[in-house]
Amino acid sequence: EAKKNGRNSLRFFDPTMQAAATVRAHAEQDLQRAVENGEFELFYQPQVDAQGKMVGAEALLRWHHPERGLVSPGEVIPLAEETGLIIPIGNWVMKTACAQLKRWATLPEAQGLTMAVNVSARQFAREDFVNFVLKVLEDTQIDPTLLELEVTESMMLDIDTAAAKMQALRTAGVRFSVDDFGTGYSSLAHLTRIPIAKLKIDQSFVQHMGDRQADLVIVQTVIAMAHSLGLCVVAEGVETPTQHQQLLNDGCNVFQGYLFGRPQPSGALERQLLQGNPPAG
Ligand code: C2E
Ligand code: MG
Ligand code: MG
Ligand code: MG
Repeated sequence: EAKKNGRNSLRFFDPTMQAAATVRAHAEQDLQRAVENGEFELFYQPQVDAQGKMVGAEALLRWHHPERGLVSPGEVIPLAEETGLIIPIGNWVMKTACAQLKRWATLPEAQGLTMAVNVSARQFAREDFVNFVLKVLEDTQIDPTLLELEVTESMMLDIDTAAAKMQALRTAGVRFSVDDFGTGYSSLAHLTRIPIAKLKIDQSFVQHMGDRQADLVIVQTVIAMAHSLGLCVVAEGVETPTQHQQLLNDGCNVFQGYLFGRPQPSGALERQLLQGNPPAG
């Protein structure tokens, strides 16, 4: 048969491709099982202000794989996006992060702490996204102004739809930040059309601001621009006191990175809060 159909049909029997397809199908089943068995956990990474006080946390997905141990989102999210499993996973993330925020509302040390939740493109694109978030807010009865949804520049391509969704949630009190800012393709004009509160400078710029003049200039320019637009700036991936000092000098508002604490289970973050949140980097 293969011969009769000519050269092209040989591709169908390419053992490398077949192996890749098998691996992928296995990975998908694996992830499907993880969703059904609830193998996920949220870790929380502190965000501190210029005085070093913890002012928020970002929820970051972790997968407790029965054989492989802790699997990072760098692997999970792309596969989840591709297969559509990002919807049940993303919904679980939203509910779990809001339930955690509800708990923090009962701790004196955690008053006013914001919760940043990453939103995936496919999740945001769904027609029921706004209603889903509103429903979680209603079910958990959290203060919506403490919830901060992290979106990326690529989600703003259809700016009218994106702006309408964001505005609907903003009206309910929810805030938005633009994650990994500077790495995407968004038009700066778009920034003025969506209700955002914060820009998060991508860690790739922060990590090289000490040895690449261009990255330092980008960081300083983003901070100046954000402030001119009335936006708050968060630096991601702050690892060294030198980076921290430079960012403080440049007027950055909020700092996130290993210097202030790694992503950690909720209990560990609460202990850090109770201890007056000293640097845990
Ligand atoms: P992100 O939202 O930009 O999150 C920051 C990433 O940088 C996290 O990686 C965090 O662990 C890491 N990080 C923080 N501080 C430092 C540092 O000082 N140095 C270095 N080298 N890295 C630092 P993580 O947890 O592996 O997450 C990777 C990405 O996966 C996230 O990037 C986000 O885009 C995505 N992600 C994570 N959780 C979720 C989720 O619940 N939903 C969605 N849709 N995406 C998620
Ligand atoms: Mg993020
Ligand atoms: Mg980021
Ligand atoms: Mg990132």
